[in-house]
Amino acid sequence: MTRSRSVLSSLLAAAAVLAMAAVLTPDAQAQGRRMTQGGSGPIQVLLVTKGHAYDRENFFALFDKLGETITWTHVEQPAAQVFWDPKMAEPYDVFVYFDAMGRREMKLADGTMGFEAPPQKSQDGLEALLKFGKGMVFFHHSIAAWNQAWDEYSEVIGGACDWGNPVTKRGVDYPFSGYQPGTKQHTSVVPEAKGHPILEGLGDGFDIVDETYNCPYFEDSINPLLRTDFVAKPENFEPARRRDPNWNPPVGSNLEAWYKAAENSPIVYIQHGHDNLAWVNENFQKLMANAIKWAASEEALKWAKEHPQKIFK
Ligand SMILES: [Zn+2]
Repeated sequence: MTRSRSVLSSLLAAAAVLAMAAVLTPDAQAQGRRMTQGGSGPIQVLLVTKGHAYDRENFFALFDKLGETITWTHVEQPAAQVFWDPKMAEPYDVFVYFDAMGRREMKLADGTMGFEAPPQKSQDGLEALLKFGKGMVFFHHSIAAWNQAWDEYSEVIGGACDWGNPVTKRGVDYPFSGYQPGTKQHTSVVPEAKGHPILEGLGDGFDIVDETYNCPYFEDSINPLLRTDFVAKPENFEPARRRDPNWNPPVGSNLEAWYKAAENSPIVYIQHGHDNLAWVNENFQKLMANAIKWAASEEALKWAKEHPQKIFK
């Protein structure tokens, strides 16, 4: 080996070490694991955001932490709708939604004021994708997306929230939804769901500090996985009572996570996940990884095809 080549290889080796160090966070270093930005795991995830503020740095760090299981690609709405198409979605095993679109009244294409829904072409695309059987995981405020102007979308998820506007679902009027940030709670595994792959490693449940909701959840259309010990009665929601002292919806469901089918697709909803208080919780991370693994699995697709839920007419 010539002298110049050996200098070059030492430089390259040094650069490689520096590059390794650059992707190791203190957390990953402590655990002796390599953390790659965007992940390098076998499951391809399309991560959808927009329409609700969030702590970007820690949010993406959460998905990087799952990087041995997933490789993630981020896309915002409305560009995400390009992937509501079986062909375009082919490279992705599962969609994970953290968006909350369509919550503001705006001037619509026909000149009237109203809430936005995706164009018909996008709606047809999602229908085709769900009939095809693509797995989807929704969490936290994604349950608010499109609920004002697109009823089928709420049926895909299994519930509907809107913290700024009244909600009408299945012919019932509800006031605006409740949220209570930073709530210490215990989330328990529902006995009949014990042994489900989404609950693997969670024992009987776990403690978490996270935001809770009071919104209509469609208990008769979902399979429960987790329930919280927080009681979703109106007086437990300070921000809503501050805004309107007469705010008085029915006591909310204590569901925290469920699975269901939408057409032929396996669907998971996780209520948890407001911010980094929840994202650093190892049990939340396990739950998210399990949900993604399940929704992407052949087993889940088979289950959904055996228990299809008709949503689109
Ligand atoms: Zn939140």
